[in-house]
Amino acid sequence: MKKVSTEGTACHNTPSFWGRFLQWVRRQSVQHRIFVYFLTFTALLLLLLWLFQVVFLDEFYRMQKRYVLRSSAESITQNIDNENLQTLVYRIAEENSVCILVTDQKLRVLTAAEVWNGCVIHHMGPNELHRLASSAEREKDHSVFREFPLMAFRNFQYDERQFRGRVPPSDAGNASSLIYVARTETSKNEQVYVFLNTLVTPVGATVQTIRNELYFISAILVLLSFGLSMILSKRITRPLIETTQAAAALSHGEYEPVRNVGYREIDQLNRQLSQAAKDLHRVEEMQHELIANISHDLRTPLTLIEGYAEAVRDLPDESTPENMQVIIDEAKRLTTLVNSILELNNARNAAGELQMKVFDLTASIQGIMTRYQKLTEQDGYRIVFEPAENVMVNADEMKVQQVVYNLINNALTYTGADKTVVVRQIMVDQRVRIEICDSGEGIAPDEIDHIWDRYYRGHKPHKRAAIGSGLGLSIVKGILDSHHLPYGVESTEGEGSTFWFELPREL
Ligand code: ADP
Repeated sequence: MKKVSTEGTACHNTPSFWGRFLQWVRRQSVQHRIFVYFLTFTALLLLLLWLFQVVFLDEFYRMQKRYVLRSSAESITQNIDNENLQTLVYRIAEENSVCILVTDQKLRVLTAAEVWNGCVIHHMGPNELHRLASSAEREKDHSVFREFPLMAFRNFQYDERQFRGRVPPSDAGNASSLIYVARTETSKNEQVYVFLNTLVTPVGATVQTIRNELYFISAILVLLSFGLSMILSKRITRPLIETTQAAAALSHGEYEPVRNVGYREIDQLNRQLSQAAKDLHRVEEMQHELIANISHDLRTPLTLIEGYAEAVRDLPDESTPENMQVIIDEAKRLTTLVNSILELNNARNAAGELQMKVFDLTASIQGIMTRYQKLTEQDGYRIVFEPAENVMVNADEMKVQQVVYNLINNALTYTGADKTVVVRQIMVDQRVRIEICDSGEGIAPDEIDHIWDRYYRGHKPHKRAAIGSGLGLSIVKGILDSHHLPYGVESTEGEGSTFWFELPREL
């Protein structure tokens, strides 16, 4: 067997340290992340403090000193022709601790200010001053900086080894004298030199003090950030954890919102989750309702088809084209129902979308009567419908038929010994009122308010109502409500009930 070597073919992309660190952070919980971010922030803060307060302090100090000398020289050169130059020179010298010497081309003093004893330029011989002036002359902008260690000007030699005990450390040995020389011209084209001199004291002692302070500050900051990040991360994540735990019940359409969270966003999340739970609950209810409604609606045509088919099978005389037509019509009705169920698949409410159109209500009810005819004749029932005129209405014909079917079914179920159901069509102003009356036992006043509720079934046992699902009237209510049509029932116990609804007449 041939052995295939895969060595060296695999392409492994080993992530860098940062890559792995970021991956690790992404895997952490919110609590840990807040913790890590907080500590990183503190570390950065400390790093900056150390850099600026310790590492670069000397650099900044020297830059500042040079800046003071340069800008002082600029002010003097700009006012070189001013008769009050002396005043300006004193002011600058006093305020910035700078020694100033302004000379002519031959280095004769024009004006001067000496503010501290160690001032070097005032104790320099003409040769030294000349050397400084020439080096400024050689520069492009006719100015130059020179720095001399102060040790060079000390008039004593110090050697630590000559003394006993711990002599305090001294930085003074590192102090230096900073000189700036700039050449300028007066309005009479006479050359003038401006010498400025300042003391650059070493910042070592200051740095040491700051460093010692920073040790304390760092320790306190690290401890504080540890504590704070622990508390903060817990306080922020607690409501999140509680919300997540509560959300676990969401799949059952339940959600008990976490109260008094204290964070606007999490409060909002809680409100939205509660809403989602309500919506879920409603969807679930609607699903049940839909299935219940569908099975109820399918039962009526199936009963009719069954009845007619049995009649045709058992009684040869009943095998008439009219009876077959009823079976065909009811089968078509079933098809339409199934189609509308499919359309209702994504329905937002159990009533579904209304297919409004203008149709002949009278003819529509007459069609229903024809379908009931044979069935009712067989069992000795009688349905009376005698309208005076044909009335047009604008509604969903299928659904209005559904209402009439359900009401007639109920009337047939509950009607009295005369086995008669009367369907009336009455004109009331521009409205048509349909009444379905039976001579049954009627409905008790304490029940009348509940009969429209879903799954409600009367207390009284009724031999034919045993098959009822308690859905018929809630479907009627749903349809008429979605059409915004008035409807109701009038019933007297022992005398019968009249169910009615009204539609605006379409002219
Ligand atoms: P069911 O499938 O039980 O008929 P319905 O929603 O159609 O369901 O009716 C609900 C209840 O209303 C019935 O159980 C019955 O008690 C009462 N009811 C409905 N129609 C009539 C009627 N014509 N006469 C008396 N009671 C009725």
